[in-house]
Amino acid sequence: MNKAIFLDRDGVLNHEIYDYITRVEDFKILEYQIPPLKKLYDEGYLLIVITNQGGIALNRYTEQELGVMHQMLRNAFVSKSADIAAFYYCPHHPTVSGACKCRKPLSGMLLDAIDMFDIDPSLSVMIGDKPRDVDAANGAGVKGIEILPDEQIDYELVKQVLAGTEFKTLSAAIKKGV
Ligand SMILES: [Mg+2]
Ligand SMILES: [Zn+2]
Repeated sequence: MNKAIFLDRDGVLNHEIYDYITRVEDFKILEYQIPPLKKLYDEGYLLIVITNQGGIALNRYTEQELGVMHQMLRNAFVSKSADIAAFYYCPHHPTVSGACKCRKPLSGMLLDAIDMFDIDPSLSVMIGDKPRDVDAANGAGVKGIEILPDEQIDYELVKQVLAGTEFKTLSAAIKKGV
């Protein structure tokens, strides 16, 4: 079985702008997240993005534009000798498309990825910047780490969470009240 680092997108891999990122030129990759994730990649963790993109249902941007952003993100990792195995996104929005099983805090995207990549959830972790990211992870049996928006991922903290039994973990910065 495989192990994975599940990653929320906005506020974790690219700069959070507190609304949908509707234009490719507003998609700013947080380059400082790549080194800690490359270490985990080199240890055999699959890097998998799990993101709500309700702006698709709201017609704020197209799946094609979303694809361009995800290709940029993947290229940034590949240029540092890492890779993103897959991008899962929920294109739905409850006001337009009704309820779905993929929109976080539900766990549909994680469950699909776990099935597709034969992942052991107990060896995996999800990093997000909202409680719903952790809830989606926990619902699939995956541990969760909540960071502040744009906070650098702490490799040591990730390793501690992976090694421990704690299911839901706040980042060091949140614990310190930063
Ligand atoms: Mg986010
Ligand atoms: Zn959905």
